[in-house]
Amino acid sequence: MARYHIKNAMVVTMDEKLGVLYDCDVLIEEGAIKAVGSKLDGSGAEVIDGSDCIVSPGFVDTHRHMWQTQLAGLMSDHTLLEYFGHVRSVYGSCYTARDAYLGNYVGALQCLDNGTTFIIDHSHIMNSANHSDSAVQGLLDSHIRGVFCYGFFINNVPVWREDDTGIQPPSDPDWRLADSKRVKDKFFAKNGPSEVLRFGIAPFELEVQPIEQAVREIEHARSIEAATITGHAALGKHDFGVQIVEKLKQKNLLKSDMLFSHTAALTPSEYAAVKECDCGLAVTPDTELQMAMGPPGAFKARSHGVSRVGLGTDVSCSNPPDMFTQMRLLLQSERQTRSLLHENGPPREVPIKCKEVLEFATIGGARAAGREKYIGSITPGKRADLIITSCKSTRMSPVSDPIAALVMYANASDVDTVMVDGRILKRGGELVGVDWLETRKELLASTKAIRERAKDAPFDAIMEHVYG
Ligand SMILES: [Zn+2]
Repeated sequence: MARYHIKNAMVVTMDEKLGVLYDCDVLIEEGAIKAVGSKLDGSGAEVIDGSDCIVSPGFVDTHRHMWQTQLAGLMSDHTLLEYFGHVRSVYGSCYTARDAYLGNYVGALQCLDNGTTFIIDHSHIMNSANHSDSAVQGLLDSHIRGVFCYGFFINNVPVWREDDTGIQPPSDPDWRLADSKRVKDKFFAKNGPSEVLRFGIAPFELEVQPIEQAVREIEHARSIEAATITGHAALGKHDFGVQIVEKLKQKNLLKSDMLFSHTAALTPSEYAAVKECDCGLAVTPDTELQMAMGPPGAFKARSHGVSRVGLGTDVSCSNPPDMFTQMRLLLQSERQTRSLLHENGPPREVPIKCKEVLEFATIGGARAAGREKYIGSITPGKRADLIITSCKSTRMSPVSDPIAALVMYANASDVDTVMVDGRILKRGGELVGVDWLETRKELLASTKAIRERAKDAPFDAIMEHVYG
């Protein structure tokens, strides 16, 4: 396996003991970070010039629906209910298995291109066993690290497609339970914590379905040893006071394998339950701000003592997998919230620092996903999941503070190199081993075909049903 010697870089380790190191080397062997320090002996290793560059941990995206890649931009001006009616109820049922593959494969390439090396894929495109297999294969072929969370979503609006393509989502929850076990056995026999891609479960909407069914799905997930069980919770204007976290606590179902997404409307006692039971939280600033879910709750969770908090990019149909943007949205919206609360004239200092959001996007996300022993910081012994951000662009010149540069100035085009498990997946600003022109051609054809199949959908009638 290739050995790499990154030389003379600024290294933002996100390791509490190591901090930020200048003129620093990073040695990578057998997929792991072997050493971090100045003037390391890397004889025999391939040299990567790190001068004028920042090395930092790859971003950890704790909540994304990867399959929706073909629907980019369709929901950027829409509400959560419109998203349910259009994307989950119509476009999802227009996906073939190949579409599911492409959505996941290209979605993962987008993540890597943006410097994200780990994703929790909340995948609810299981229209058939072929869809399930294709969605997994798309992630495997990209070599991204993460957890494929098999979704139990069931279309809850009247079936409108009556053709014989066989891609209408099955409405039988038992089928999904059985198929999830099949997928686990087929692709994830080991499913150990050092595997690059692991298997998890995403129950059907926890706040919508009867609690007995939620219990059944969570118990099923544990019976087949899902690494992560992830679900939407406490969706602000949309949670109707269900308090699902409280309900699951009462049933003794909260454990450290659970990762709740959004969560802006958790009650104080629910935060206490999350802390006590060591669950993770995935905060998705773009969605919370767009879809009336309340102020992104990362700092609120931290103030309640919850340590496992990460960021996510959520819906591909509304925004790209860009963690730079999520950091900035969280940072500035939180600063705004606090400045509005400040009394007696202007504040004397900015209350939140750039480093705090970079923590949520890296080591915090690794904690939320239960992988902090393996990823989330540039620490000797951890797997080599890192990015090298060039400081040579007009926007990145000069760099006075590498953390401020990463949080406030950088974007995906500055990400020169991306490494997952010691394997280089982006180099010199280009994805490695990807025929992008061909892949893009197929993606655009897939997008066109999905929209063609959806064009006669009775959107108005479906929205009437969704609005209830
Ligand atoms: Zn979501």
